[in-house]
Amino acid sequence: MDPKTVIEPFRIRMVEPLSFTTPTQRRERLQGAHYNPFLLRSRDITIDLLTDSGTGAMSAAQWAAIMTGDETYAGSESYYQLRDTVHALTGMKHVIPTHQGRSSEHILFSVLGVKGRCVLANTHFDTTRANVEYLGGEAIDLVIEEGLNPRSEHPFKGNIDLARLEHHLQRGGDDVACVLMTVTNNSGGGQPASLENLRAASALAHKYGRPFFLDAARFAENAWFIHEREPGQQQRTPHDIAQEVFSLSDGFTMSAKKDGLVNIGGLLCLNDDATAEGARSLLILTEGYPTYGGLAGRDLAALAVGLQEVTDPQYLKYRIASVRYLHNKLDALGVPLVHPSGGHAVYIDAAALYPHLRPWDLPGVSLCNEIYLEGGVRGVEIGTLMFGRPVDGAHDKPAAMELVRLAFPRRTYSQSHVDWLAEIIADVYQRRDSAPGYRIVRQSPVLRAFTAELEPV
Ligand SMILES: *Cc1c(COP(=O)(O)O)cnc(C)c1O
Repeated sequence: MDPKTVIEPFRIRMVEPLSFTTPTQRRERLQGAHYNPFLLRSRDITIDLLTDSGTGAMSAAQWAAIMTGDETYAGSESYYQLRDTVHALTGMKHVIPTHQGRSSEHILFSVLGVKGRCVLANTHFDTTRANVEYLGGEAIDLVIEEGLNPRSEHPFKGNIDLARLEHHLQRGGDDVACVLMTVTNNSGGGQPASLENLRAASALAHKYGRPFFLDAARFAENAWFIHEREPGQQQRTPHDIAQEVFSLSDGFTMSAKKDGLVNIGGLLCLNDDATAEGARSLLILTEGYPTYGGLAGRDLAALAVGLQEVTDPQYLKYRIASVRYLHNKLDALGVPLVHPSGGHAVYIDAAALYPHLRPWDLPGVSLCNEIYLEGGVRGVEIGTLMFGRPVDGAHDKPAAMELVRLAFPRRTYSQSHVDWLAEIIADVYQRRDSAPGYRIVRQSPVLRAFTAELEPV
C-alpha cells in the first residue's frame, strides 16, 4: 500500500488552545489596530499566518536540549555543539551565532563595506534591503523575469538572471560588495533557486573576484525543491544537496527562526579569516561574546538539534505538501495565486483579486483585513505598503507585485485547520467586489509596514 495522503510526521503531546472572536469583536480590534494586522494582539487571532518566523513548534529532542543547555558566558559547550553541527552541514570555517537574521545582515554588510557600493541579489528580503540601504549601499534585485510573473509555472522562480548579473558585475567592478542569493526567495513568493543557477551565480561572482553569499533562512526547503524538481537530483538527499549549495558560497547569513526550527536565533558563517575577525569585533559590540552572540546557551543547543531535524526527508515532504494542500484548494476555487506553490507560504495575488483597487489603494492590506474580519485569520501584505516608496505630492511608487502571504508556522497547524482556512478564504473571494481601499495615515521612514497606521478610503 502506498497511501496518497501525506501525514504530519509527528504526534502531539502538548497543546495550546486557539482563541476565538465574534465578528463584532474583530471589527473593533481591527479598528483599534489602525487597520494594520501587525498591530493586533495574539489573543484576537484564531489562526496566525503572519509569519513562519520563530512561530513553529520545537521537538521533544529540542526541549531536552534546552534543559541541558550550557549557560557559560565564554566557551559554552552548547556553542561547540552548534559549531560542529553547522560545520558538518555547511563546511564553514567560522560559525558566529547572532540573535536573529537581521543582525547577521547588519554585521556582514558593515564589515564588507557597502557604503557607496551595491549588493546584487535574486531578491533582497525586506530587512536585508533595509540594512544595505541604511549602511549607504544600493540593493539591486535581479530575479529572472518569470519570478515577477505570478502565473508562470517555472519550477525555479527564485533564480537570478545570469545575463543581468554578469552585466552588473562587469560594469560595477569593485563597487559590487557581493552577490547574495536568498534561498528560498521569500519576497518573491517562497520560490526556490535551482542548483544549476546557484552554481552559475557563484561561478560568475568568483570570475569577477566578488564574494558569493547566501541568505540561507530556508536552505532546507530550497534543497527539497531541488530534490523534487531539478533533473538528476532525485537520488540525492536534501542534506547532501544543502551541503553542496553551502559549499558554493563564501558565507551566509541565516535567520534560524525559519529552517533552524527554533523560536529565536541567527547565524553568520564565513570562510574568510579577515572578514570573520571584523564580524566578531562588531558582534562583541552589538550582540555579545562570540560563543553566544546574543543568545542563551539553551537557544544554541536547541538550534543545533533543529538544524539536524530540518533536513529529514519525512519532515520536508510533509512541510512542502501541507503548503501545497492549501495552494491547490484555493486554486480550485479560482483564487489568483503565485504559482507554483512555494515553500513556506501561499501567496495570493491581491492585484488580480481586486482589479478595482490601484496599488496606492493597498489591495494587499485590504485582502488581509477582509480575511481577518471573516475568520480571525492573520496574513501579511507583501506589496506597496511593505515595498512601495512615498513620493512627494504624488501616489506612492508601487511595489513590483501586490501579494498577501499566508505563511505556515512549522509543525504547528493540522490539515483540518487548513480546511477551515480554505472556507474562510472562499467567503472572502465570493464578496471580492466590495473590498475597500486603504490609505496610510502615519508611517515611519524605515520598514514602514510594521508600524504604519491606516484607514479605509
Ligand atoms: C526572516 C528573514 C530574514 C531576517 O531574519 P530575522 O531573523 O527576522 O531577523 C532575512 N532574510 C530572509 C529571507 C528571511 O526570511
